Amino acid sequence: MNVVVLVGGVGGARFLQGVKHALGPGHEITAIVNTGDDVWLHGLRICPDLDTCMYTLGGGIDTDRGWGRTGETWTVKDELAAYNAGSEWFGLGDKDIATHLVRSRMLRAGYPLSQVTEALCARWRPGVRLLPMSDDRVETHVVIDDPDTGERAAVHFQEWWIRHRAAVPAHSIVPVGADEATPAPGVLDAIAAADVILLAPSNPVVSVGTILAVPGVRTALVKAGAKVVGISPIVNDKPVRGMADACLTAIGVETTAEAVGRHYGARSGADGILDGWLVHTGDTAAVPEVTVRAVPLLMSDVDATAAMVRAAFDLAGVSGG
Ligand code: GDP
Ligand code: CA
Repeated sequence: MNVVVLVGGVGGARFLQGVKHALGPGHEITAIVNTGDDVWLHGLRICPDLDTCMYTLGGGIDTDRGWGRTGETWTVKDELAAYNAGSEWFGLGDKDIATHLVRSRMLRAGYPLSQVTEALCARWRPGVRLLPMSDDRVETHVVIDDPDTGERAAVHFQEWWIRHRAAVPAHSIVPVGADEATPAPGVLDAIAAADVILLAPSNPVVSVGTILAVPGVRTALVKAGAKVVGISPIVNDKPVRGMADACLTAIGVETTAEAVGRHYGARSGADGILDGWLVHTGDTAAVPEVTVRAVPLLMSDVDATAAMVRAAFDLAGVSGG
């Protein structure tokens, strides 16, 4: 089987572990990863969602935090703070910095992000082909009233998410550069060749939504021969983890499994992408022309996550593993 999964960071990475577990060896899994969170800091290119997927699947993740390296130390971060070098709110670990150094050096030498990611994955062997959504620079910005100055300002997504904990209301969320971006090599081919396409229970706005903002991706999903099944990140009218509700509010979508399903929309309808939508047991969702099923959707361990994946395969009419 060829399985394609659209993913962000922590939610996407955990879901991919379940896909691997559900399928076992002998299958091809391609993850199309959001890069709208990527940021230059201190001259380093940081790709949080790609790295979270790479470390999680490669066994290097700090499982308690859900991001960054296990056994991390913070000497460089402390030294930067002593220089008052700025961006002190960003968690930049020493081990992580080595990844960013290798990446930044390769990017400056002219390699596209997709090739850099492949090179980094040669060490981590994630068992999933990790494709950045695009090799072009796309950065999600958030328009807020700056709490320090009171002025309206566009800040990088990371600043809103980490520094402000998404507690400052967002007037809008803009994937800057997406309009001119093209999908990374392999992205459209993987979608076209897929036997099933899954939307991980990732943030519908700043993870999956950003991938869908890259011209060509949405059309490829609509035209694909495979069924497209989404998994709700919203359970019992709340994000399972994190502040996705703040992102949904910013785009005028309610924080319910039904509203997110309707936001993705039916592939048979105008602009939609879904054939199937999985919601958590006890939740209900009426999404016109989409098959909705309720199953347990908590990724409490890899077996539970694999069961979610099997439910998605079942809804798509394919049998995995
Ligand atoms: P990020 O890039 O690190 O923010 O991660 P993602 O965008 O990939 O995933 C974040 C989303 O995952 C959040 O909106 C959570 O609600 C969702 N999520 C996290 N854990 C679970 C879970 O166990 N079940 C479900 N259904 N969603 C989850
Ligand atoms: Ca992210």
